Amino acid sequence: MTTERTFSIIKPDATRRNLTGAVTKMLEAAGLRVVASKRIHMTQEQAEGFYAVHKERPFFGELVSFMISGPVVVQVLEGENAMARNREVMGATNPANAEPGTIRKELAESIEANTVHGSDSLENAATEIAYFFKPEEIVG
Ligand code: GDP
Repeated sequence: MTTERTFSIIKPDATRRNLTGAVTKMLEAAGLRVVASKRIHMTQEQAEGFYAVHKERPFFGELVSFMISGPVVVQVLEGENAMARNREVMGATNPANAEPGTIRKELAESIEANTVHGSDSLENAATEIAYFFKPEEIVG
């Protein structure tokens, strides 16, 4: 059994529609435990830094604008195989391609406004957690 930590963001389309509880309920039902959580409004600089790996992609500007269009909830999730489990419950990037029962299939609005972010590797999870949380803010 491998207990892992991964990083999640409930995106502005979800906070706007008052779905933070609905998303968290689906994460918890998938066996993930929220061990840190805070609602923040990212600055442009913070969002650009967070998505720096995507800066050459054509949608980078739009993505950053979307991520600062409203508050988000940043979370650390803990559980067995948490990184992969979270990616599974999130569903495909484009909600049109996501499996039934996944967060994006059930709740997302579009390929951009797709309700949740989740780290795609353990290495990225560690970097992303450290980008938003101090160690003492994570209580397992
Ligand atoms: P993820 O790991 O499933 O979130 O997907 P990616 O790492 O490929 O993309 C990061 C985020 O960029 C996605 O979650 C979307 O919010 C956004 N995104 C991805 N593809 C597109 C696209 O083709 N157009 C736009 N506008 N946004 C996109």
